[in-house]
Amino acid sequence: MACIDALWLPYTQMATAPAPLPVVGAEGVRIRLADGRELIDGISSWWTMCHGYAHPHIVAAVKAQLHTLPHVMFAGLVHEPALKLARRLAAWLPGELNRVFFSESGSVAVEVALKIAVQYWKNRGEDRHRFLAFHDGYHGDTLGALSVTDPACGFHDAHAAYRVPQHFAALPRDAASRAALEALLDRHGREIAAMIVEPRVQGAGGMRFHDVATLEALRAACDAHGILLIFDEIMTGFGRTGTLFATPPTAVPDILCLSKALTGGTLPLAATVATDAVFAAFCSERSEDAFMHGPTFMANPLACAAANASLDLFEREPRLQQVAAIEAQLRRELEPCRHLPGVVDVRVMGAIGVVQLDRPIAAALRPAFVERGVWVRPFGDIVYLAPPFVIDTTDLATLTAAVCEVVADWSKNNPCAPCPISTP
Ligand SMILES: *Cc1c(COP(=O)(O)O)cnc(C)c1O
Repeated sequence: MACIDALWLPYTQMATAPAPLPVVGAEGVRIRLADGRELIDGISSWWTMCHGYAHPHIVAAVKAQLHTLPHVMFAGLVHEPALKLARRLAAWLPGELNRVFFSESGSVAVEVALKIAVQYWKNRGEDRHRFLAFHDGYHGDTLGALSVTDPACGFHDAHAAYRVPQHFAALPRDAASRAALEALLDRHGREIAAMIVEPRVQGAGGMRFHDVATLEALRAACDAHGILLIFDEIMTGFGRTGTLFATPPTAVPDILCLSKALTGGTLPLAATVATDAVFAAFCSERSEDAFMHGPTFMANPLACAAANASLDLFEREPRLQQVAAIEAQLRRELEPCRHLPGVVDVRVMGAIGVVQLDRPIAAALRPAFVERGVWVRPFGDIVYLAPPFVIDTTDLATLTAAVCEVVADWSKNNPCAPCPISTP
């Protein structure tokens, strides 16, 4: 890896990994490599790039903002792009999710949510400092977010000693897991500040789906035990699951985290949104009730301008119809994989299509996709697609054909290589 000698790469054993591919540009659904090749992006740059790369409306909005106010600190000062964005998010989100705290990455949005939950109880005179999280959940790489991430997800548990206190439970998908959750809450409910879950789709934990009834059961359990409910919509937010947010109107959380597609994948930005009731616990005559957190680049105006432009596109262009069309095509075109030996499941929700293998070998398939001119990043036991919503049927067919071919090749040769755990 001599050509990248100054870099430390994410999720990579750099002693053995092949060199990353140099990229010189990207437009629409295509990533352009330095050697002139183009790859169709099948995973929207880690699920961010919902309108495609370099969408002219977002580029224009960021350019205009760059000339007016690229950045200003957010303590004691405020600006229109942030206020406008916060108001729009509050209006778009269900229920009383009306208070928006900005930060610059998903992990930090989760840290903020966890800190808000603990301090909510402290401000109300109760000591609740544990969290309840779920098997296969992923919430970020910083220590607090990692603490509520299932160690089995492949995010190595090298930092176990520093985890904040938490309990893990199975999602209450059936009667048995519902009873187990109830038993855990009966025992420990009074020390739990909040429960955190990715609604409808657990992303980095293996693109695992659950239904609305599961979320309703969580909402009911939280209400019964007076626990705050946090939805991590960092991956699911902005159309990915087929609706604008994965949160159903029948199970609205107390705190909700957004990031990935918030700026249409253009600039780093995240938001932690709290209900009026949660916010009220921080408003008093006592200065120690205030929330002590403030990222340096909080509510960066360029990022807010990009996010406002992205929301414009959701208003002006038929994104959710596009997601519905992608869903139908993914269902049709991934279905043939179902009967291949070694394939244990094919599932689709919104613009997410998953082929699950019987072993965690998927990362070994990565080079075969680049050879076919597509950019996907299988991990763990899944090969999945999460394309930009603007992809046309021909490019999507190229992606699904690549998945079917690569999985069929693997299935035919049925290699039984060692199975290293791999990350998204
Ligand atoms: C990506 C992701 C995060 C972490 O976001 P970063 O911006 O990478 O810190 C947290 N939760 C979920 C569900 C995610 O998909």
